[in-house]
Amino acid sequence: MSKTILITGCSSGLGISIAVQAAQAGHRVYATMRNLDKRADLDATATEAGVSLTMLPLDVQDMTTITACVDQILGEAGQIDVLVNNAGAGFVRSTEQASEDDISWVMDVNFMGVVRCVKAVMPHFRTRRSGHVISISSVGGLVGQPFNEIYCGAKFAVEGYMEAMASYITPHFGIHFTTVEPGGIQSEFAASVLKHVADTGGMLEDEYLPILQKYVGGSQRRQAGSDIYQTADQVAEVVMGCIASDSPPIRTRTSTWGEAFCALKTDLDPEGRKLQQQVIDQFLCD
Ligand code: NAP
Repeated sequence: MSKTILITGCSSGLGISIAVQAAQAGHRVYATMRNLDKRADLDATATEAGVSLTMLPLDVQDMTTITACVDQILGEAGQIDVLVNNAGAGFVRSTEQASEDDISWVMDVNFMGVVRCVKAVMPHFRTRRSGHVISISSVGGLVGQPFNEIYCGAKFAVEGYMEAMASYITPHFGIHFTTVEPGGIQSEFAASVLKHVADTGGMLEDEYLPILQKYVGGSQRRQAGSDIYQTADQVAEVVMGCIASDSPPIRTRTSTWGEAFCALKTDLDPEGRKLQQQVIDQFLCD
């Protein structure tokens, strides 16, 4: 069945792959980005794949652009079936090293951005008693990692937010919530993180430096030759499986590496369904 899909953060990486694969699968795709001047890569990939999609401006930090985008899609297509919260930004600094502005920005893009987009589509989803919110989190939304406490905090927030909504909105209104937890993705993401570090004073000469160097050096080695990193297309295939499912998981990893890395947190309930039932039984039984 063809669905109407709104995707955020489609100027690069995973957003491009999800948009193009969704269009290839026959869905009506609204691929959004905060700056349409960065549309060239998506344009080229869609043209190469022989698919058409609609590009619209949407900045997850600006509710006005989100509302305008949702209104335009509803005006044109009449409905939205799936919201994919893909836009996100990484951040590597210890709490002591991070400025309050940086911390607010990371939380705003990665967490508040998701909340704003959900807020914009929920009245429509609830009226229709259907809809699917898919949020791209990370294994960092389940397992805290060095120098990533601010980013992990934002992704943990996304996980808790999605899990809480799945506990009462899914059983009462038929709206599904899925959190996708990739490991590494070959994209602009890591380069943007390193650029941000360079633009904000570089690696500071302090007690954290040798630990940070160990972490950054290690991640470069890991990126070179391991199964931690997937292509954006591989991760998008997992997202496509969630879109196609009538009973999508509440959470899912995207690789065997990610599954193993998170196993201590997820083995008992890999898709989050048992936990959802436990919360319903505790708080929503008659
Ligand atoms: P990417 O290539 O850096 O793409 C990130 C996208 O988010 C870009 O399109 C970027 O747009 C967009 N974005 C940033 N701030 C935005 C805002 N305020 N409004 C709208 N869009 C905004 O990285 P990616 O790997 O594809 O990341 C996609 C998702 O996967 C993110 O949620 C990320 O946290 C998650 N993830 C990534 C990795 C990884 O290793 N790459 C691992 C696990 C999870 P601009 O081009 O305008 O900046």
